Amino acid sequence: MIPFSPPKIDQKVIDEVSDALRSGWITTGPKTKLFEKKIAEYCKAEKVLCVNSATAGLELVLRWFGVKEGDEVIVPAYTYCATANVVVHCGAKPVMADINPDDFCISVKDILSKITEKTKVIIPVDIAGFPCDYDSINSLVNSDDIKKKFSAESDEQKKLGRILVLSDAAHSIGAVYKGKKTGALTDITVFSFHAVKNLTTAEGGAIVFNLPEQFNKEELYNYFNILTLHGQTKDALAKSKIGQWRYDVIFAGYKANMTDLQAAIGLAEIDRYDEETITRRKAIFDRYSKAFSKYSWAKLPVYEDQSRKSSYHVYLLRINNITETQRDEIITRIFEREVSVNVHFQPLPLLSVYKQLGYKMEDYPVSYQNYSCEISLPVYFDLTDEQVDVVVQAVVDSVE
Ligand SMILES: *Cc1c(COP(=O)(O)O)cnc(C)c1O
Repeated sequence: MIPFSPPKIDQKVIDEVSDALRSGWITTGPKTKLFEKKIAEYCKAEKVLCVNSATAGLELVLRWFGVKEGDEVIVPAYTYCATANVVVHCGAKPVMADINPDDFCISVKDILSKITEKTKVIIPVDIAGFPCDYDSINSLVNSDDIKKKFSAESDEQKKLGRILVLSDAAHSIGAVYKGKKTGALTDITVFSFHAVKNLTTAEGGAIVFNLPEQFNKEELYNYFNILTLHGQTKDALAKSKIGQWRYDVIFAGYKANMTDLQAAIGLAEIDRYDEETITRRKAIFDRYSKAFSKYSWAKLPVYEDQSRKSSYHVYLLRINNITETQRDEIITRIFEREVSVNVHFQPLPLLSVYKQLGYKMEDYPVSYQNYSCEISLPVYFDLTDEQVDVVVQAVVDSVE
């Protein structure tokens, strides 16, 4: 069986994790702090804080910005549930926008039609690793009309004076938009290092701060650091120093810190991320596209254009002119040929929780259309060219 997305665990990863174990320091410590610096350098951002998941990172940002009951947050209908669940956790309403037919990114036109006086945040999602149209989204929130509509309540909202753009970049570390990497493209970006993502720490995530200059990034980092540790003024490492045992708790914070065991995996990964990971993933994407371009039933994903380059996270193949039922049948047949595939994603209005909240699939026709004919193919470092060819043949045989 060809698996869908196994992590790359080699001697380098094992050595880094062993080093953390042998050091005796396994929770947040020097490796986490070093990993944060490396991520900041990698995406040319001022400050990065590691957390235990992207979900936690997104929710902490919403809470910091004061998102609460009565507020609205715009999310794409086509995403993983985490993007909208965090809005629900804060008591606010996820307002769903449809996506573009070609690239699965949130439609800027639809965002515009969904903005109200209650909109506090927009969470674009770089589906499959392809960056959204950030110039358009950033100019939208900075336009006079939209700024006039914004009703600032919390101190942070007053300080920003407009809608916050919080990018869900769970798929897109290393993706490029007009020469800049994700992390440097919006106010705040959140990465995921979950086991199936491009760059993993088993579980984990990072918050990248890129807010305008009225925000002091050092202070923000310190605040969020405390926010991820119960509101405690010192972390375990600081407390372990001589005469430093006493600490205070200045608010009821959360528990969302990354451990050094996790960061150790990330350190092994980030040093070779561009040269090995991204390069291999791109080669796999290119091999799929070359093979499927021979078939008129195949709709190839867009993963590069004039201004953007994907991080090549998942290969979203679409089959022209089929129904959802036919797609499901094709998937069964692909599995019968010993190849694991997937669907990224079931749009949120198809899920019970969002159906019960009143969202209707027919209100997001592009999301449904893209979903109903989509099959995600395996992409991972250790997938060989021969295996890519096996996947292609399994898909071709199943479709035909
Ligand atoms: C994986 C994923 C998340 C959540 O990441 P975690 O680190 O598991 O919390 C959020 N959004 C999208 C689009 C994802 O694919």
